[in-house]
Amino acid sequence: MEKLRDILENAKKKIVKLNGERVCNQTSNRCGCCSGDYALISLKEKIEILKFVKSNSGVKEKVLKNKLEESPCYFRDKENGVCLIYDLRPICCRYISYKIYEKDDCYKTCSPFEPCKKGKSTVIKIEKNRVFTKEIPLKSFFLDDEEYYFIDDNIISEYQEYKKIQNLRLSSIIDEIEK
Ligand code: SF4
Repeated sequence: MEKLRDILENAKKKIVKLNGERVCNQTSNRCGCCSGDYALISLKEKIEILKFVKSNSGVKEKVLKNKLEESPCYFRDKENGVCLIYDLRPICCRYISYKIYEKDDCYKTCSPFEPCKKGKSTVIKIEKNRVFTKEIPLKSFFLDDEEYYFIDDNIISEYQEYKKIQNLRLSSIIDEIEK
């Protein structure tokens, strides 16, 4: 888990250095997409998050309030626009707008120009022959003569291992928190 977090963090840092930080309207600024209860986590992440929330009464209070208000993600601090579990946030939250993925006959990724707005996705399609593998796990393509870099998690062996144990919904933690 630590190794995978480091790989993603380092890859993201490289991209930020090359292309600048990507803005994402669905994020709580410094983190991933917070538009819905989509995050899947492993048991190890669940245990870490649970321990952290239970030992931080302020965080716990906000998480439970989010549950009552049926917020898309119970772990988002709406007032301050940040993730309440930032250091422990799920793997999938760490690089959503930096990720590229293969889809049938093309690649798809978040637009490097325009962040998604409510109800309007700006995910773009790139033909396969325009996408190049760079220093693993980065892939790149040119748009308007500029080279843009993204992370391809499918070429990270640690991610493939992680996927085998990524089988719990993030929101499932709430039942344990309430106990
Ligand atoms: S866990 Fe944090 S980063 Fe992930 S969706 Fe929720 S608020 Fe956003």
